[in-house]
Amino acid sequence: MKKQKTWVEVSKDNLIHNIQTLKGLVGDRVFCPAVKANAYGHGIVEVAPYVLTGGADWLAVDALFEAKKLKESGIESPIYIMGYVLNNELKEAVKEGFRFVVYNKETIIELGKISRDCNIHLKIETGNNRQGIALGDLPEIVDLLSKNPCINVEGVATHFADIEDTTDHSYAEEQIENFKKGIEILENGGVRPAYAHCANTAAVILFPHTYLNFVRAGIGIYGMWPSNETYVSAVKANKADIELRPALTWKTIIAQIKNLKEGEYIGYGRTYRTTHDTRLAVLPVGYYDGYDRGLSNNAFVIIHGKRAPVRGRVCMNMIMVDVTHIPEAKVEDEVILLGKDGGEKVSAELMGSWANTINYEITTRINERIPRVIV
Ligand SMILES: *Cc1c(COP(=O)(O)O)cnc(C)c1O
Repeated sequence: MKKQKTWVEVSKDNLIHNIQTLKGLVGDRVFCPAVKANAYGHGIVEVAPYVLTGGADWLAVDALFEAKKLKESGIESPIYIMGYVLNNELKEAVKEGFRFVVYNKETIIELGKISRDCNIHLKIETGNNRQGIALGDLPEIVDLLSKNPCINVEGVATHFADIEDTTDHSYAEEQIENFKKGIEILENGGVRPAYAHCANTAAVILFPHTYLNFVRAGIGIYGMWPSNETYVSAVKANKADIELRPALTWKTIIAQIKNLKEGEYIGYGRTYRTTHDTRLAVLPVGYYDGYDRGLSNNAFVIIHGKRAPVRGRVCMNMIMVDVTHIPEAKVEDEVILLGKDGGEKVSAELMGSWANTINYEITTRINERIPRVIV
């Protein structure tokens, strides 16, 4: 690859290690990793082949356009769309053979009109109050389905509200009970889905009884823990030997180096004033690229294995860092924004704590336009 202003490297060995680790826990259940949101920022088209090499059976996305992107790139595994499919997209989703989630009777009526065999996964509301059909509404849905025989309910799904944000998992247990009730209502109505699924990464790590026969793990395959609470819960359950290896490194280069006197200001709003004669490096990435503005005066990057603190505000396309103590730094040297070098590390969790958000948002926000390179 020609030198770039900024790029993302994804370690295929780490990706495959993580998938094999999680797949090792779930055994022969269908392993359906989430590659939505540009594969959590890792590059959907770039990583999908390795996700399958690592042992994924299906791939899960959020939207039709992502499913099409995968198929157009040559992916042949089943693809499951977990987010809303619009009525005007249903015909195409069905024609392409994508599986998709359904939780509105309007969707079922529309599918009935298309009158072509399709596989849907019914989402049941169990306590998240996001997507899902309330238990009380299931009989009506069952009735509607019985009038539309071209619709095959291949799967039944739900999603946990409070499994990674806590070490108290009683609410998740209640949701599982509700899910079982929902499945029973379906079965009593003659709807017998081949698959039932609810497990995300936290559930895969912590709770084998959530696996049923199909799991949807996302963050873990990229080598990140869902949260500190999940890690603490894993320690308590003697599962801390589960090793996840972050797969993503985000890099840039030095675009300029300049010498400032003590007492000079740096950047918009003059929020930083040098306290010593300073060697300052200008880096060509900013909040447009996904380097959060909350990192202003509040982060470091790694240059030649050393920390270089961000000085002043993060701009749209640039940041400035102090390299006074890194005399060997020169124009077009490589810089690590997210990743590790020598003894220094900026994890997505650390960057998330600086920016007042979570690792999920840090990596998914890395602008899609930035090249992803498998290493
Ligand atoms: C994103 C997503 C997942 C994966 O969650 P992780 O916490 O990343 O493992 C699973 N199920 C649904 C419905 C999702 O939207």
